[in-house]
Order: sequence, then structure tokens, then C-alpha cells
Amino acid sequence: MTIALSAGEALPSALGADEPACGDSAVLRWSRFLPATRAEGPGLRAAVWVQGCAVRCPGCFNPQLWAPRGGTVSDPALVAADWAAQAQAAGAEGVTLLGGEPFEQAGTLAIVAEAFRAAGMTVMTFSGHSYDDLRQWARVRADIARLLAATDLLCDGPYLQEHPDARRPWIGSTNQSIRALTSAYADEVRAIDESGGTDRLEVRIAPDGTVGVNGWATDAALTALLDDLGARADRPGRGIRSHTLLTDREQAR
Ligand code: SF4
Repeated sequence: MTIALSAGEALPSALGADEPACGDSAVLRWSRFLPATRAEGPGLRAAVWVQGCAVRCPGCFNPQLWAPRGGTVSDPALVAADWAAQAQAAGAEGVTLLGGEPFEQAGTLAIVAEAFRAAGMTVMTFSGHSYDDLRQWARVRADIARLLAATDLLCDGPYLQEHPDARRPWIGSTNQSIRALTSAYADEVRAIDESGGTDRLEVRIAPDGTVGVNGWATDAALTALLDDLGARADRPGRGIRSHTLLTDREQAR
């Protein structure tokens, strides 16, 4: 893991150090699905934001996804088949699993990941836990081992807002890592390690005026953009950001 802290300086917290509880293996609780985006990983990808995160990094851009309740509850096999079909129809090369904390629903998300793999697509997964911890827990947690086994590209580690990372794409702080767990994105990870990369931000305006934003940009850039986009559809008179901004840096993350 890359840690850009001063010599002898410890990580400022134990964020993400607690083992995630085993989720309900029968249902997937999720918040948002996009069949195709270029802002949540390499290439054109589907993206699934899950509901629930106990890591709770200060400065997280998706605190609306912390609650273990809410969102939509689905049968993982049924929704996975539908999402994979939508992603294929949109020309996506894979899916990105983010949130929320994917490893709090590792068993059901593994079903989703495996469905995309079976359809010939790749899997990218974000986590607020470190890869070292995930591997340790995977020794006795079949659900965590299964999701790791179905992941090609992993972004891991909690978001530390005091250590922003402006060099690499997708992640938010310098302690976080981008790892190729299979050969699928080994070249991309090598290129990022050597030369960094560029974040993307996507804005979707639905026919009913609802604004959806995903991807990542700096606070200043987001403020300048979102100030011009109007009120939240669900709370007229309030800014749109806290509800509709869904970023890969939550993972940021
Ligand atoms: S940044 Fe990610 S891991 Fe941290 S609180 Fe937000 S959703 Fe959870």
C-alpha cells in the first residue's frame, strides 16, 4: 500500500481495521446502478453502489450510503443477471462495485461479480478495508474470499481526507492502493504507478430534471459545477450534492 506520510508518522486512525460483519446472504441491499460509465474505473463499465458502510471515513462523499437500512433490496442472482445483460447491451467491459462498503455484502456481491465474469466482463471492487486485512479475514471468511477471487482490480484502504491523492485516478487519498489481482488490468496498474492518471466526472440530467453525478473531482471543481445545476429533485431549495453525488472516491473513497 502507498502511504504518503512523513517518516515515523502513523496512520491517523484505525479506520477500516474492524472485520466487516457477515451480511445477509439472501439479499443484496443497493442504492444505484448504472449500466455504463467511464468515471468509475478503466474503460466503459457498469457500476453498482451498495447500501451500508461501517467504516465511516470523515469526509466521505457518500454518507447517505452508510446506513445499513434503506436502498433497494434484491435477490442477488436475479438482479445480477439483469445488470449483466444491461451492461452488455451498453457495451461495457466490466462492472465496478462500490458504495457503501462492498465487503459488508461480500457473499451476495460475489454472486453479482461472478455473473459479470460469466458474461465475459471484468470486475473492479472498492473497499475501505486494507488488502492485507481482507486477505487475513478471507482465511476464515468464505464470503470475503469469494469476492476477492471474483475481483480483477481492487482499490483498497480507508479515505483519509488529510492525505488527498491528486495523482492517481479513482481513489481519494495517498494511503489507498490500486491493485491488479488478475492480469486483466496489470498493464493499467503499472501505467498508473509510473505516470498517474486522470479522474473523470459524469453528470446526467434526466427528463424529469433529476441530476445525477458520479466520478470524482476536487471540492472546488465540484462546487463550481454543482452550484450551477439547481436544486435537488428530492429536496427543492437544497443543494444537490449530498444526495446525487456518488463518487468512486468514497472509496474515496
Ligand atoms: S469513503 Fe468508502 S469506506 Fe469510507 S466511509 Fe465512505 S463509503 Fe465507507
